[in-house]
Amino acid sequence: MRFTLVCLVVSALGCGDDGVDQPPPREVMLEAVVGADGLSADVPFEIPEGTRSVTIVVEGAKDSLYALGAFAMGDGAELVNLPAGAPGPAMQATYEQEQIGQLAGDLYQSIRLGTFTHVYPYRPGQIVVEGNAYLRVASNRPGPVKIRILMPEDDGANALPLNIYIVSDTLADPDTPAFRSEVTRLLAQANVNVTFNLVERIPGTALERITDFSEPQEAPTSMSAMLPGLVADRMTTGLDIFFVEALPSGVGGLALGTPGPPIRGTYYFGVVVRGGLPAVELARITAHEAGHFLGLQHVQNRGISGRIYPDPLDDTTPGVDNLMEGGSLLTPHQAFALSRSALLEVRP
Ligand SMILES: [Zn+2]
Repeated sequence: MRFTLVCLVVSALGCGDDGVDQPPPREVMLEAVVGADGLSADVPFEIPEGTRSVTIVVEGAKDSLYALGAFAMGDGAELVNLPAGAPGPAMQATYEQEQIGQLAGDLYQSIRLGTFTHVYPYRPGQIVVEGNAYLRVASNRPGPVKIRILMPEDDGANALPLNIYIVSDTLADPDTPAFRSEVTRLLAQANVNVTFNLVERIPGTALERITDFSEPQEAPTSMSAMLPGLVADRMTTGLDIFFVEALPSGVGGLALGTPGPPIRGTYYFGVVVRGGLPAVELARITAHEAGHFLGLQHVQNRGISGRIYPDPLDDTTPGVDNLMEGGSLLTPHQAFALSRSALLEVRP
């Protein structure tokens, strides 16, 4: 792993031609430092041929906001185009005051505390261009960050295994045939083939009743973000669903990322669902939160100022039955966005 990373960095600098025609790795780990101007230097990496999507995960300090300050693929076209000046104050304003967390510029990205995730493409028409790419990290605080980039093969993967964890001594097992068939049906609309890896009860924790909830997204120090730590050592693929006894009033579920980092072991890996509801409602919430984690936004969000922030898709309409509102349908563009997730697997 370390060897291939060194190769990648060297070849990205244009001095690594050793005559061996190795394809670039599909997963890389890099480091960068955000400077006093709120931006890192260019971080080069290489996108292999036939790539499904580029998922960029930036991990830094838990009290700092992160996003991409620049991002270009093999054609060199810069996709973010931030307004001039340090990005930090605007990041803080949209995240803390407006409680939306959408970074200005041309790329639709969700600013995040501690660990940021971006999946590209997130809408039809966006093309992954192989070759020498680069990114810059934006933050409201200077300091070092780790960057993980996943570039899975565009292999038609469409299976989404789910791992069900019941974080309670007493909660009724949500894993019923009615639940399974409804989750499967909802996501099959988008050609996502749900499978069930495992169901495990985790008793005796202090996380059975989640009492905090934050807008626009959970913080690293939230109770919800401690749930993934309960199962960080499990050797399984797929997405983790945590059923708990209670969430704050009015909250049926939450995703630990929109999109979330598709990396087991990070504190944002998974979604949380309030148990004890009828199977069809549990299934709808599970599919909605899984949709968030794989990259779907609400059809629209309303900021504290009253401003409306639509999703980046062209075929979703507010008020029309949709899983990413209170309904259950998914559009072709939502299906496309889901199909790019690095969590999807090829199943025989
Ligand atoms: Zn939602």
